[in-house]
Amino acid sequence: MRTIHEPARELEVEVEADVIVAGGGPAGVGAALAAAREGARTVLFERFGMLGGMWTAALVNPLFQQQNGWLVAELVQRLEAAGGWQKQDWFWTFNPEVLKGVLEETLAEAGVDFRYFTWCAAPVMDEHRVTGVITESKAGRRAALASIVIDATGDGDVAAGAGAEVAFGRSSDGLVQPATLMFQLDGVEGNHHPRDLYPALQEALAALGSDWQLPFGQVNYAPWIIAVPNHPAVVQATHIYEYNPLDPKSLTGAMVEGRRQARKLSRAFQAIPGWEQARLVNTASALGIRESRRVRGLYSLCLEDLQRGATFPDAVASCSFCVDIHAPDGNSANTPHHAPIKPYEIPYRCLVPKGVDGLLVCGRCISGTHEAHASYRVTGTCMAMGQAVGLAAANAVQQTIAPREVDGVWLRRALGERGYTFLAG
Ligand SMILES: Cc1cc2nc3c(=O)[nH]c(=O)nc-3n(C[C@H](O)[C@H](O)[C@H](O)COP(=O)(O)OP(=O)(O)OC[C@H]3O[C@@H](n4cnc5c(N)ncnc54)[C@H](O)[C@@H]3O)c2cc1C
Repeated sequence: MRTIHEPARELEVEVEADVIVAGGGPAGVGAALAAAREGARTVLFERFGMLGGMWTAALVNPLFQQQNGWLVAELVQRLEAAGGWQKQDWFWTFNPEVLKGVLEETLAEAGVDFRYFTWCAAPVMDEHRVTGVITESKAGRRAALASIVIDATGDGDVAAGAGAEVAFGRSSDGLVQPATLMFQLDGVEGNHHPRDLYPALQEALAALGSDWQLPFGQVNYAPWIIAVPNHPAVVQATHIYEYNPLDPKSLTGAMVEGRRQARKLSRAFQAIPGWEQARLVNTASALGIRESRRVRGLYSLCLEDLQRGATFPDAVASCSFCVDIHAPDGNSANTPHHAPIKPYEIPYRCLVPKGVDGLLVCGRCISGTHEAHASYRVTGTCMAMGQAVGLAAANAVQQTIAPREVDGVWLRRALGERGYTFLAG
């Protein structure tokens, strides 16, 4: 491979804080809110011009695992008060535009200094300790320093840059779950279950004389038309297989393919009798990424932990969501999709990377196997992990200790005192 040499240069230190949060998705907003509420000077960097990550930029809905409490419960209350929350069948959906405003107001009230259009490009390191991040933005390359950095990028960007051990994809072939480009569909009632729609779509394609194959099997909860309060329905249907979420060329191809599938699907929806008014309004501005790097921590959660309903003295979040694996190669026959599990807990050790200090991770990039990840990746659980590491980081700053020295048993109790309810046990 051809390379060039980039000369070293002095960088302006634009920020000095107690806690830096990289990424403002469900995990990152939970982390920043908790850290700031606990008194830490907190800065959050987000590459997009909005908070919410997959919730807003990728139009992902519903909000699963919202029931556990503290900041997740508060978010739900605020959404409800703003008219952006609605109970459906057995789940709840939210208006993504309302959520953008609620998140900005809530973080601003808590004193979080959040900065959009800023990439965390690399960690600042002092040997094995992360002491900040190097940012890239329209203002150029700058440095931000903090006692503790929280990697909530979903992709484990900061952790990987710091040399943390990472896993990627399923163990058999390294493939990650497919991406989905969500889209808005007008002119339909919404809330249609995939089991009814799958055959209807196939008949519609046949009626159109199309030999295009639907990009999913019936097992994968697609196509799912999800009713959203005061907003067009959002559709979970496109599937892009065998792409690389860490490669911009591959991501570009996936986005183009996602839009192509959205157009084809919308035409098929229109061809279902009674659905002539169905209209593609908009594709999401970000690709829906289910799975990327998983940062190896002091503990790694596995499918057996979920199946036995594992509990841990240092638990920081719990989850009862199914193992929702969309087959990485499109062949559902070989995946433990919807394997039965019991409500289980996630220990703090999954959020503390092995071999790197000054760093915590939260959200879909924590330490676990491909199978376990397929359950705990849902947004309510990701935000719960975020609030836990935010609390842990603030505690570490107060005590001048490393994140790995935070007492996990204390953390569990402290979360309970703030209203978090553990489901397992
Ligand atoms: C198609 C699809 C459907 C899903 N359906 C559901 C569902 O119905 N219900 C549910 O609860 N969950 C669902 N999920 C899972 C859920 O959306 C994700 O697992 C969850 O959003 C992960 O949260 P996170 O905060 O870890 O990451 P993300 O939501 O990905 O947020 C990461 C944030 O970090 C930012 N970022 C990334 N890198 C950098 C960087 N280097 N510098 C600065 N910022 C950065 C991103 O812009 C983003 O805002 C779905 C996921 C997909 C893809």
